[in-house]
Amino acid sequence: MELTTLREEARDLLDETVALRRTLHRWPELGNDLPITKENVLGALEGLPLQITEHSTTSGIAAVLEGGKPGPTVLLRGDMDALPLHEDTDLEFESATEGQMHACGHDTHTAMLVGAAKLLSARKADIPGRVLFMFQPGEEGFAGAKFMLEEGLLDVGNRSDGSESPVTGAYALHITANLPAGWIASRANTIMASADTMHITVTGRGGHASQPHLALDPIPIACEIVQALQLMVTRTIDVFDPGVVTVGQITAGTTNNIIPETASIVGTIRAVSERTRSKIHDGIRRVAEGVGAAHDASVHVEFRDGYPVTVNNPGSAEFALDVAKEIVGEQGTVRLPNPIMGAEDFSYVLNRIPGAMLFLGGTSPDRNPATAAPNHSNRVVFDENAMVNGIAVYGAMALRHLTGSPS
Ligand SMILES: [Zn+2]
Ligand SMILES: [Zn+2]
Repeated sequence: MELTTLREEARDLLDETVALRRTLHRWPELGNDLPITKENVLGALEGLPLQITEHSTTSGIAAVLEGGKPGPTVLLRGDMDALPLHEDTDLEFESATEGQMHACGHDTHTAMLVGAAKLLSARKADIPGRVLFMFQPGEEGFAGAKFMLEEGLLDVGNRSDGSESPVTGAYALHITANLPAGWIASRANTIMASADTMHITVTGRGGHASQPHLALDPIPIACEIVQALQLMVTRTIDVFDPGVVTVGQITAGTTNNIIPETASIVGTIRAVSERTRSKIHDGIRRVAEGVGAAHDASVHVEFRDGYPVTVNNPGSAEFALDVAKEIVGEQGTVRLPNPIMGAEDFSYVLNRIPGAMLFLGGTSPDRNPATAAPNHSNRVVFDENAMVNGIAVYGAMALRHLTGSPS
């Protein structure tokens, strides 16, 4: 299969993809309930030969394209939600909803996935298997992917001819404002970190600040815990399988002459493997409770689990980078040396199905990728021309995965 023609077909879809992207950009929505976005996506998919399932627990949409020949199912993911911040881009299509903005480029993902659905629908007869288009809400901290999985996203059943067609691969693109437009970057194994929150409460006994021996002061104990956590990380975590513990908030007391009863410590935990993630959790609990016990205070440790580590199947990542190289060229295909320390809920999909997540460059040629406003910035701007490669790479990964002919 000639992948260069795919890129030309993607280029023909650019105008309508840009139009959809701008509509989505103008009406950003947050979390798992995205009624306007959903309506726009369903409208854009109208007329395509897709079996569409509207999810009920979220605004998620699962659309299946059944090819003319038997074969497995491949999943392509595009997320649809925006972020809670005021937009300062001055774009003519900037957000019309105060305090909400598509600052992570999910509007481009959704528009590109619709483009890929059009591209692949035109080749329906020749496709050996099925393509499952996953339009998910709630990526920005609301675990939309997890909800869609729980609602049976992967229970796709058999094809209409009765043949089995399990989901055997899953791919996602994420645009980034800090890579030249149209480039593709990824890596085998871990691509993004886990992100959990810790809440530690130290409970002593309140009293008069002049008589600490009659009270049990939780403040120096909390300070000791913060120091001990840093020691725990540097002395017990393998530097080649790293983790980060950052205390971002300490709260205690009301004034100078009172010993408060409690002190609280709140922080974030990042890791690039599940092994280090659980080792850090165990370490935090051990150190915090141990320091508390040394001073006779009681310590309560609570973790709020965020997204797991996002791990690309090594074979899938190499396959996807090879496919991308045919579309964007050798120079525009980047093998990332390190994971990115942000987190992604596509991790839940990759924990179930072998696959890969790839970054798509979105920095326009007149900007410097190193200094351009990044994703999540109120000033981030993405080059819409990058969507041509995005549509083509989505389409090519699906076709190549199903035809089983990795280049
Ligand atoms: Zn984001
Ligand atoms: Zn994002």
